[in-house]
Amino acid sequence: WQNTFDPFRSRETVKGLHKVLLREVERPVRIMEVCGTHTMSIFQHGLRELFPEKLKMISGPGCPVCVTSQGDIDTMIGLSREPNCRLVSFGDMLRVPGSNGSLRDAMAQGAKVHIVYSPMDALEIAKKFSDDEVVFLGIGFETTAPSIAATIIRAKKEKIKNFSVLSTMKLMPPALHSLFSQEDVEVDGLLCPGHVSAIIGARAYVPISEEFKIPCVIAGFEPADILAALILLIRQIKNGESKVENAYERAVSWDGNERALEIVKKVFYPVDVTWRGIGVIPQSGLSIRKEFEEFCARKKLGLKIKELPEPKGCRCGEVLKGAITPPMCPLFKKACTPATPVGPCMVSSEGICHAYYRYGFAD
Ligand code: SF4
Repeated sequence: WQNTFDPFRSRETVKGLHKVLLREVERPVRIMEVCGTHTMSIFQHGLRELFPEKLKMISGPGCPVCVTSQGDIDTMIGLSREPNCRLVSFGDMLRVPGSNGSLRDAMAQGAKVHIVYSPMDALEIAKKFSDDEVVFLGIGFETTAPSIAATIIRAKKEKIKNFSVLSTMKLMPPALHSLFSQEDVEVDGLLCPGHVSAIIGARAYVPISEEFKIPCVIAGFEPADILAALILLIRQIKNGESKVENAYERAVSWDGNERALEIVKKVFYPVDVTWRGIGVIPQSGLSIRKEFEEFCARKKLGLKIKELPEPKGCRCGEVLKGAITPPMCPLFKKACTPATPVGPCMVSSEGICHAYYRYGFAD
């Protein structure tokens, strides 16, 4: 019996690709991986130790919890303390510190918070607790948006009145555009996210590669996927090319998942939103359309979200732009650890600071 992923983890394949990578890297290059799952996979499989010295990997803003603004986090925690409110969330949000504690702290004080794996579970919770307003915390990128959109459509069909979504969902291409427009971001190539690309398609990176003359390669998450994509990137850099290549064809097509894109478009429209560390990025968030506004928690509950500064001393913003690595933050491994996180990058399982801490990297 063979696991589907075995061929992409095979020692022989990885060894062969590693050899090619070592041969191809001739000058110092900086590659950004924008997906938190790539960051974790690179650490988990020990790829960092295998990379040649001249290849520097930097992490970008690809962890959805990490880029959620302090104002949004405080709003969620505030909402959890409202008497007739019941929050439903993915697990990563629980320990993210707000200005005044986390959701987990609020739970300890009696807040009603449910952890789910699928947004659809929130509808069952809403049916069960019909006296409470059940608010689903919609956090994520293009990958999560279709299932949240489908949940809102189902809620409308089933006429569920006590359910709403606090959308802080974000879109990756506008964030990349904003990031590469900043002068202090030096990147030679982009390792594009596999999951997001499965929805938006490889085509979505063409404007970025053309405008910023940056090679883009979409990668899967197994060691062979990542090494193969890096080889393609290095070859483009050496040849002075800047095109989009897809090294994850088993999951990503050129046009993406048209059905998923359609359902997202039906429920959401793009709006300007704040990304932690980057600021307001035009048309980079998803808000709920008028036709579904009875399920928009912001409108239904009249939420006013105030933008707030980062926790004192936390440099998540710079980490998320790839401007510094976590050990350059003075709080790293001192005041800030996974047990006592100061910023979200130390909490999330896809957070960069968490990865550096867990796998013991110091540079
Ligand atoms: Fe923020 Fe902690 Fe990371 Fe420093 S180490 S940037 S305080 S999360």
